[in-house]
Amino acid sequence: MKTLNKFYIDGAWVNSVSTETMPVMNPASNSQIGVLTLGNAADVDRAVAAAKRAFESFSQTSKDQRLALLERLLDATRARIEDLAQAMTAEMGAPITMSREVQAESGIGHLEGFIAALKAQDEREVLASGDIVTREPIGVCGLITPWNWPINQIALKVIPALAAGATCVLKPSEHTPLCANIYGEIIHAAGYPAGVFNLVHGAGPVVGAAMSRHRDIAMMSFTGSTRAGIQVSKDAADTVKRVALELGGKSPNLVFADCDLPTRVSEGVAACFYNTGQSCDAPTRMLVERACYDDAVRLALAAGKAQTVGDPASEGDHIGPLFDEIQYNRVQAMIQAGIDDGARLLVGGLGKPDGLPDGWYVRPTIFADVTPDMRIARQEVFGPVLVIMAFEDEDHAIRMANDTEYGLAAYVQTGDPRRAERVANRLRAGGIHINGRDAGYGAPFGGYKQSGTGREGGAFGLEEFQELKVRPPFAL
Ligand code: NDP
Repeated sequence: MKTLNKFYIDGAWVNSVSTETMPVMNPASNSQIGVLTLGNAADVDRAVAAAKRAFESFSQTSKDQRLALLERLLDATRARIEDLAQAMTAEMGAPITMSREVQAESGIGHLEGFIAALKAQDEREVLASGDIVTREPIGVCGLITPWNWPINQIALKVIPALAAGATCVLKPSEHTPLCANIYGEIIHAAGYPAGVFNLVHGAGPVVGAAMSRHRDIAMMSFTGSTRAGIQVSKDAADTVKRVALELGGKSPNLVFADCDLPTRVSEGVAACFYNTGQSCDAPTRMLVERACYDDAVRLALAAGKAQTVGDPASEGDHIGPLFDEIQYNRVQAMIQAGIDDGARLLVGGLGKPDGLPDGWYVRPTIFADVTPDMRIARQEVFGPVLVIMAFEDEDHAIRMANDTEYGLAAYVQTGDPRRAERVANRLRAGGIHINGRDAGYGAPFGGYKQSGTGREGGAFGLEEFQELKVRPPFAL
């Protein structure tokens, strides 16, 4: 049982002002593994004051100094990969193989992407007019991260803030505090000056809201639900902060009859179920050309049946439980909505998989013959639930794909490179995956429409944490 009753403020682990606590749970066994102290507005004030003081000197560091710190952060992260992976498996149920190779590894991949971006960035540019543009760190940044990809999201926010010379206060999801604390230890081990990075645990509406409203915070970067993202924007409005949002998705996967159907359908099913469906960019709407619809449904059924579910502590490519009871109940309600709305249940359904009565496990579920008006076709489920719908031709596919309030990702499966190009150009989404390939670390990640504002990762993600200043060339 871990006791997490300290926050990382001004370079040290300090006692919180607040004494309110909550249990930290293991979703695979529904057993308590820790106790977390939740902060309040006074804790936020302390952290912001430390970050504000640190900004005075850290904002003046040279690019070479910040690159040297990032290289040390790389070594410090590499030394703790196993600890990060074990923590995420215990607190959010990611299977250990995936925790190591993808969840924890993302802390390295994004860091390398930001190091390359910072190296390549010109701090000073001379425009054709002769005017000089410089890039400067934006100030104290408030960072709020979710539980589904905890280190990935922390890395996408903390690293560019520090790379830019900004300082920050991180509020991780209070459901995944173990890996967040390890990340705090990693930053400490890398030798960052006191106050540059601060960590305060707490509930979104308390600590998160205090940060969004704080007048000494210049920028908020948030990842989570659209509901909470809207609240952050409203809270930030009175102090005119920059707000970057990475929110939900209902990403389409367009399967054309000219693709390698067996591979593309089975990979599409696996991609939807990956991380137990708890990914904002998961391909949750499989849109299939009518000419190959029946074959695709047969292949999806086989892939759905083949999907294994099991203990996240065991090695392998199975999926684990959902991360808590609330999420379990949300997913059950959406499966029920699919049944009630008349979709054809191909595989899975309500309840827990056989032999897994204790944790928040769900049955990987696929619905066919789904129509665009059904709730499971429109609302984000955030669980291993795939819907399959038919389209007649390319125009119809694009209309259906874009018929969503979200626009984070879209997936295209075709054997024709010209079609891939044509369709990708017309999809209203921030990231396009083609035949199972997506962009790597260092590429911009973010959404159109209600999937958010701004981009994370690499050069574009770095710019989110910078201000531009312009002046004319010196003359008497
Ligand atoms: P939330 O959006 O509530 O949680 C994400 C983060 O936002 C957490 O750190 C949370 O803190 C914080 N937060 C919540 N309310 C506020 C607020 N008013 N001001 C500032 N910060 C706030 O997601 P849930 O955990 O409730 O999940 C609900 C749904 O959200 C999921 O089913 C899924 O659809 C979506 N989601 C999307 C994610 C993505 O990657 N885009 C990630 C997570 C969820 P706290 O934990 O205290 O609420």
